[in-house]
Amino acid sequence: MSTNIVCPSGLAGEIRGLKGKEGKLLADRAAARAGSTFEKILSGCWLSTTDAALYEVPEGGALNWSKVLVADRFYALLQIRALTFGDEYAFSVQCQSASCRERFEWTLNLKDLPVRPLSDAAKAAIKAGNRFETKLPRDGRKVWFRLMTGADEVRAATVLRAAKDGMLLTALALRIVEIEGVVETDKRKFLDEMEMADAAALLDQFDDADGGVETSIEVECPSCMGVQEVQLPFERGFFLPRSKGRTDG
Ligand SMILES: [Zn+2]
Repeated sequence: MSTNIVCPSGLAGEIRGLKGKEGKLLADRAAARAGSTFEKILSGCWLSTTDAALYEVPEGGALNWSKVLVADRFYALLQIRALTFGDEYAFSVQCQSASCRERFEWTLNLKDLPVRPLSDAAKAAIKAGNRFETKLPRDGRKVWFRLMTGADEVRAATVLRAAKDGMLLTALALRIVEIEGVVETDKRKFLDEMEMADAAALLDQFDDADGGVETSIEVECPSCMGVQEVQLPFERGFFLPRSKGRTDG
């Protein structure tokens, strides 16, 4: 079974569902830690490119997924999953209310997740060397940042695991290319002193530029009826769903 998809950047091609060999890969925790699992799933299940969009595909060659934007990679993985196991995705959530903490199962239809295409401005910025300009609202300085590719994502996973300064500053530092009037060696110091309002504004800018699948979803606790926002869990169960009727794990 195969189907044609168009990713947020306009990258289009034919995908197939997962086979046993990818299932074996998903069970391999060492490969998952090295970040190579998704790479192999994408290369294996992407059968052909019909529109390379922003990317260069050599004549007779294959698309290099490590250079593909994270928004496109995630979209493609989502479609591969839906083609393999269907659009329904069930996962377990724990209620965020301190007085409740109920654990419940939430099911959504993957087709209902909104997808934001990459804007024309973003496409132009990518073509001009992946450099996006924004301004810190409080500080007033200009900041240039980049959109993450597959290779960046693998690097980020490693750096974030080892991060001593916490996730936020590390996540910012990974994507900021340049800060107006700040030399590279002072970048970290600048981020340490940056107002949180500016940090939050930057993260919003990253999100806006990234486009792709909206992964924050609202769920309602069946016990206290509290509505809360959670991030779509993108882990083992996404590609290896439990068979119906089982509730363990
Ligand atoms: Zn609750």
